[in-house]
Amino acid sequence: MLFNGVEFDTYFKNHPDQNGYFGKYGGSYIPSELKAAMQEITEAYFTICKSTRFIGELRRIRREFQGRPTPISHLERLSGKLGNVQLYVKREDLNHTGAHKLNHCMGEALLAKYMGKKKVIAETGAGQHGVALATAAAYFGLECDIYMGSVDIKKQAPNVARMKILGANVVEVTHGLATLKEAVDAAFDAYSREYKDSIYCIGSVLGPHPFPMMVRDFQSVVGIEAREQFLSMTGELPDAVVACVGGGSNAMGLFSGFLNDPVEIYGVEPLGRGTALGDHAASLKYGTEGIMHGFNSLMLKDENGEPAPVYSVASGLDYPSSGPEHAYLHDLGRVKYDVVDDEETVDAFFTLSRLEGIIPAIESSHAVAYGMKLAKKMGRGSILICLSGRGDKDMDYVIEKYGIR
Ligand SMILES: *Cc1c(COP(=O)(O)O)cnc(C)c1O
Repeated sequence: MLFNGVEFDTYFKNHPDQNGYFGKYGGSYIPSELKAAMQEITEAYFTICKSTRFIGELRRIRREFQGRPTPISHLERLSGKLGNVQLYVKREDLNHTGAHKLNHCMGEALLAKYMGKKKVIAETGAGQHGVALATAAAYFGLECDIYMGSVDIKKQAPNVARMKILGANVVEVTHGLATLKEAVDAAFDAYSREYKDSIYCIGSVLGPHPFPMMVRDFQSVVGIEAREQFLSMTGELPDAVVACVGGGSNAMGLFSGFLNDPVEIYGVEPLGRGTALGDHAASLKYGTEGIMHGFNSLMLKDENGEPAPVYSVASGLDYPSSGPEHAYLHDLGRVKYDVVDDEETVDAFFTLSRLEGIIPAIESSHAVAYGMKLAKKMGRGSILICLSGRGDKDMDYVIEKYGIR
């Protein structure tokens, strides 16, 4: 399929290019001491990850440990309420640990094992990535250092407990605001000292090349499964697919299955409290080109050009940028990016719970909210939504802040 001059039949062969660019976005903007480490990971990825031994082992792990394939569920009662459009969800909430993040963590940790590394290193904000990586490290018998700001450690006690039970070493970061940004810096620092024996594992389609490509490829299992399942369930492709976008990994996973099809694709960003800078985290809709954390993408900046403070009810979505491939697909027009606010999101959280018996993650509730609006607008057809995770982690907060609706 040709779209705005880009041939999607051969899209994955040509994107990213040799240097890790999706159009002008992506690349690798890192200190020289890390260049060799990234080169080592890139080379290992292109040899090891294409071997039948690696692919065979990852497939077995997905089946026997993660519980894949995850099903697609038809939302019959919700669809009936909204009109004639049929809504479906891809159930990443049923993936082991309750979200899609384990898909790339198992891939990254398996790569670490094949490369002979002893340790995986990462940062975490809300703790979701930390828990997924700690799970993967326990499975493969790798050491695991998770850098986390002391403010987040206090806020996310259950996830800190999970990481510790799984055997991870949670390293407290106390400087600056002691949240995600400082944790990223501390994790990169540690990695530049320890890269001989360790590998850095990014939590989304972000960071310097090869991470946006690698994480996308590991997540593409979501889209590959979903396309096959949807065809066998309905005999057709969906008319539209929808996913929430923080860094953009669950979205790239689902979208990669449908980029070369006549399917409308929507990425949903958090509008939070409103359109003022600082009240949302909609970096693709409102951001401008810039470099942070090792890559070029669309980002939200303050008056000094630094990453702006962002806000969303969903801590998994409040990042001031998104993956470079999303910025590329945005400019190309192949994927449409739109927003829903906190209120619409919380409504969708309760609606899906009440009508379908599925409590969605507050991140995924953004995609559900948008899918519901789109259904009313379309009037007919079908929509497939990525339910990126389950909502157990959000229940206390939602009830405390919004009450039972
Ligand atoms: C972390 C997280 C997200 C956001 O990350 P992406 O990389 O944008 O997918 C979305 N949903 C859930 C459940 C998460 O844990």
